[in-house]
Amino acid sequence: MKTIDLRSDTVTRPTPAMQAAMLAAPLGDDVFGDDPTVNLLQDSLAERLGFEAGLFCPTGTQSNLIALMTHCQRGDEYIVGQEAHCYKWEAGGAAVLGSIQPQPLDNARDGSIPLERIAAAIKPDDVHYARTRLLALENTIGGKLLPQDYVDAAVALAHGRGLQCHLDGARFFNAVVASQQPGEVLIQTERRLIAGFDSVSICLSKGLGAPGGSVLLGRKDFIAQARRWRKMVGGGMRQAGVLAAGGLYALEHHVARLADDHANARLLAESLAGVPGLQVDAGPTNMVFLHVAAEQAQALVEHLKAQQVLATGLYTLRLVTHLDVSQDDVRRVAQVVRAFFER
Ligand SMILES: *Cc1c(COP(=O)(O)O)cnc(C)c1O
Repeated sequence: MKTIDLRSDTVTRPTPAMQAAMLAAPLGDDVFGDDPTVNLLQDSLAERLGFEAGLFCPTGTQSNLIALMTHCQRGDEYIVGQEAHCYKWEAGGAAVLGSIQPQPLDNARDGSIPLERIAAAIKPDDVHYARTRLLALENTIGGKLLPQDYVDAAVALAHGRGLQCHLDGARFFNAVVASQQPGEVLIQTERRLIAGFDSVSICLSKGLGAPGGSVLLGRKDFIAQARRWRKMVGGGMRQAGVLAAGGLYALEHHVARLADDHANARLLAESLAGVPGLQVDAGPTNMVFLHVAAEQAQALVEHLKAQQVLATGLYTLRLVTHLDVSQDDVRRVAQVVRAFFER
């Protein structure tokens, strides 16, 4: 029986076609700026999203760290959501390695940080305070889409107060595909969602299915400084084009198909609706959350595992659909979950 791994969309393996693209990629030493495949990835993604330049990084964590360190100097601060990856899930790197103070604010249920909280947290120019330099948003956040009106207003507020704006767009293309309006071509949706941000970090290794790598995008001078920080934090890779080729392949072939992952998540949520003892919460992208009684959660994880379905969570189980999960897999998962509650 096939193991269905729903722990994250990071578990995808490169497809045979992606592997072939990786093996065929022309390579060079990227620390010298000589890897043609890395350069193509950086330049083409920057152009696609309307930025001047890009920087290939080993991970999304490092790409966010480099962005924070480039926007903020020692003694500066960034405003960020309590639930944000670049505050909560990156081992405190900005504070530890960057001497940057986070100013975390509670996220609303939809993942936004209310504008009045942002406005109130921006410090005046006074020796008592850290210098507020940056607003960091995340889209998608917890599988949810930030409302676009909100994003536009938050970016305008931040810029109006002299702050820069960074988007942790680890799953930016999930947001894009879920936001596409009828009659809108994908690139228009991409440009609409990214408008106004000074930098964005995009993971190639999640739903897009590449084995590794993230790209940081921004202005030319920003990326030049970011390249220096990347070297310092140990992210200068040599023939990194092997990885970048997987990313290029993914950007060409795996963006539109994210709609399949979203449809599979929706199918899973619908198949589980109304199961007694189970509360299902699904956003418009590729994540389904199962809220169960505390004493049941571990037993459910074990039950799933015995049926070769992998999930994570303590009180809330997170099931993530991706490239290596089919519609039939999702049906099987729904049966296995139902069986737990119906026994
Ligand atoms: C996964 C993720 C990251 C970090 O990416 P890694 O490649 O795992 O370091 C950053 N931000 C968000 C929102 C993520 O989901």
